[in-house]
Amino acid sequence: MKYDLIIIGAGPGGIFSAYEALQLRPDLKIGIFEAGNALEKRHCPIDGKKVKSCVSCPSCAIMNGFGGAGAFSDGKYNITNQFGGTLYEHVGRDQAIALMQYVDTLNLKFGGKGTKLYSTSNTHLKKKCLQNDLHLLDAQVRHLGTDINYVVLENLYALLSEHVDFHFLSPVDSVKKLDEGYEITSKGETYSGTSCIISTGRSGSKWMGEICDSLGIKTSSNRVDIGVRVELPAEVFADLTDELYESKIVYRTNKFQDLVRTFCMNPRGVVVSENTNGIITVNGHSYDDPARYTENTNFALLVSNHFSEPFKDSNGYGESIARLSNMLGGGVIVQRFGDLIRGQRSTPNRVAESFVTPTLSATPGDLSLVIPKRQLDGIIEMIYALDKVAPGTANDSTLLYGVEVKFYNLEVEVDENLETIHKGLYVIGDCSGVTHSLSHASASGVYAARHLYSK
Ligand SMILES: Cc1cc2nc3c(=O)[nH]c(=O)nc-3n(C[C@H](O)[C@H](O)[C@H](O)COP(=O)(O)OP(=O)(O)OC[C@H]3O[C@@H](n4cnc5c(N)ncnc54)[C@H](O)[C@@H]3O)c2cc1C
Repeated sequence: MKYDLIIIGAGPGGIFSAYEALQLRPDLKIGIFEAGNALEKRHCPIDGKKVKSCVSCPSCAIMNGFGGAGAFSDGKYNITNQFGGTLYEHVGRDQAIALMQYVDTLNLKFGGKGTKLYSTSNTHLKKKCLQNDLHLLDAQVRHLGTDINYVVLENLYALLSEHVDFHFLSPVDSVKKLDEGYEITSKGETYSGTSCIISTGRSGSKWMGEICDSLGIKTSSNRVDIGVRVELPAEVFADLTDELYESKIVYRTNKFQDLVRTFCMNPRGVVVSENTNGIITVNGHSYDDPARYTENTNFALLVSNHFSEPFKDSNGYGESIARLSNMLGGGVIVQRFGDLIRGQRSTPNRVAESFVTPTLSATPGDLSLVIPKRQLDGIIEMIYALDKVAPGTANDSTLLYGVEVKFYNLEVEVDENLETIHKGLYVIGDCSGVTHSLSHASASGVYAARHLYSK
């Protein structure tokens, strides 16, 4: 089978590159290869009753399939260069913002109309944060919510499937450079394409590394963020979440001078577990539909770790810490902040007596046995700092789930067009290391397609 364009991965990067390519060249023959399932077939078996924790399905419904890791996410599209990736380093700041705004118009067009766009400009909260040594980053954020995000994906799929060959449950094994174009193999079959866009996300990061090695493309890896997911009564963070929805706040610790930041804030949301390459970590999302609101808000507190020579396996470091929590707790561990400070493990009884009802069934335990002192001290310092802008954050009952790990993918050597050393081979989205978010990944897809077809 011969395509004009082969896209590997049907996450936001792959979807938006296919969409834009078809806008520019409706005649293109495009094949999309996706390791996971079609959207409507993606079902995580965890129901909180019969199946309480991850059973390691061959294809994780949360991470893989049409919509990628973002399909059941909170659908927060941040329009900013301050976080979510470094696309601006390749395409320039103005263009990066313009691309993200373009993606926003598409999200509205495909079902997101009526959803709210929050903004940090002119907020008094910035001053309040600064007065307490906390730094609120600038951003606009479109909050689609898990339910509307799903509708947008359904509508995009309806349009794309009329023009594109989708190959689901079809992990690509190899990518080979031909004299003209590329050849891939999937499920024992061979396909070729004049051009190829790889967008395999975080779950395809290891595979990406192998492909880069085989094609002589340089990679590097030196960063991983480790932390916990905090869950507390929604009222405690209401001043911030009502006005900004998602606030990215950064703090520099006194002791180690590390940066700790809030990440992925979900007002009235739920905490979930996720499985990356067999390792269970924690995450969170929330729904747009008020009927699905919970009493709690959750967000991650992450400590950034940058390593220098000779250490090269930052993701391996993060995985080892996550494995430790899996070993002790069988999955995610939950601990009350008060128990952590008193140096005692949380027990099922202590969690049951807590004033905060957990939204994830996790194993009560002791995070100080899992998270290294440096990172744990940083998290505790930041919780006390946040307590000054959102009093109640440092309450005894505040729940901490561990561990949350933000793996940074290998940084793949790509040029200002997101093209590799091989002409016509693009690496975009999270698997490139350039992006770490829905908006940046989607924007990178639009950008690569434009570079290919607007010539
Ligand atoms: C629970 C959760 C909540 C999140 N919430 C948000 C949020 O609110 N806002 C935000 O900005 N970001 C959020 N994120 C992160 C966001 O989802 C990602 O940054 C984004 O999806 C990256 O897009 P991508 O296309 O690069 O990769 P992905 O979305 O990961 O898609 C890659 C696809 O490639 C497929 N694949 C992998 N390897 C292969 C292979 N060898 N062959 C074929 N296919 C392959 C995978 O199955 C996957 O479907 C969240 C992530 C999770 C897990």
